Amino acid sequence: YVMKCSKDGEFTKGELNRFDNIQLSPSAGVYSQAIYEGTKAYRKENGKLLLFRPDHNAVRMQLGAERMLMPSPSVDQFVDAVKQTAFANKRWVPPSGKGSLYIRPLLMGSGPILGLGPAPEYTFIVYASPVGNYFKEGIAALNLYVEEEYVRAAPGGAGGVKSITNYAPVLKALSRAKSRGFSDVLYLDSVKKKYLEEASSCNVFVVKGRTISTPATNGTILEGITRKSVMEIASDQGYEVVEKAVHVDEVMDADEVFCTGTAVGVAPVGTITYQDKRVEYETGDESACQKLRSVLVGIQTGLIEDNKGWVTCIN
Ligand code: PMP
Repeated sequence: YVMKCSKDGEFTKGELNRFDNIQLSPSAGVYSQAIYEGTKAYRKENGKLLLFRPDHNAVRMQLGAERMLMPSPSVDQFVDAVKQTAFANKRWVPPSGKGSLYIRPLLMGSGPILGLGPAPEYTFIVYASPVGNYFKEGIAALNLYVEEEYVRAAPGGAGGVKSITNYAPVLKALSRAKSRGFSDVLYLDSVKKKYLEEASSCNVFVVKGRTISTPATNGTILEGITRKSVMEIASDQGYEVVEKAVHVDEVMDADEVFCTGTAVGVAPVGTITYQDKRVEYETGDESACQKLRSVLVGIQTGLIEDNKGWVTCIN
C-alpha cells in the first residue's frame, strides 16, 4: 500500500500495489526522517482476521511524525491502509495458532534534499509478511544482559519515537550480547546508568509479590502498545501496577521479570546478567507473566472474548 504526501502536507488517496522496488532520488533520505510501526493480523479459529489496536499504532506514528517534523496520515487513513494491506494478503496469514501476518507501516521523507531541513515530499508505505510464532516450541525464557557501555536513548532525544535512527545503534550491543549467548540487551538510562529503560525491541516489567513495576515513559523508551495493554490486564487481575524509575538493584532483587512487544507478546525472562552477577527468575505456569500472556494472546487470537474493544475483525 502506498500513499504520497504533497508539499502542502496532505496525504492523498493511497492505493494497493504489488510488492516491488520503489524509486527514490539519490538525495532522499540522508537526514533519516523515517518512522515505522509494527502490528500483526491473527487468524481466528473460524478463519477471520483480527487486528490488535491498530488505532494506537496510528496515534503513535502521528506523535513520532510531529517530533521528526513530518506530516502524517490521519488515524482513519492509517487504519484503512493497514486493513487493506492485511485483507489483500489474507491468504498469507498462517492458520490460527501457527503464526501471524506482521504488518509494517513506514513513513519517510522521500523527496530530494541537500541542506539540512525537512524533506519536500513524504511517502507512507505499508507492507506485510507472514511470521511464525516467536517461540517455536513451548515458551523459552529470555536471558538478558545489562548493557553498560552503550545507551539506547538520552533525555530530549527521540528514544520515544519509533524512528529508524534508533535501531542501527543498538545492533552492535545486541550482536555482541548474542555472540555471548544472551537473547537480548537491557538498556539503562544515559544519565546515571542505574535505571532500567527497555530491551532492543520490547518493554520490560519487574514483579515483586503482587506489585508489577515498569519504567515510566519519559521520552527515552518506546511506549509499547503491548505494554499499555498488559498494564490494564494486570490491574484487572488485581496486581498493583506502578510506572516509575526502576533501579537496576530492584531488577536483580525481583521475583520475576518479563518483556512485552508485538514480536514477543509477553515473554518470561529466565536470567539477567549485570556486571558479575547473574540472577534467575520464576517463569513457571503460576507466574504473573504466564497469566498475563494467556489473556493477551487469547484476546489477540480471538480465543478469549474481547470485552475491551481491542480487536478489529476485518472480514
Ligand atoms: N520498545 C522498542 C524499542 C520497540 O521497538 C518495540 C516494538 N515496537 C517495543 C518496545 C514494544 O512496542 P509494541 O508493544 O507496541 O510492539
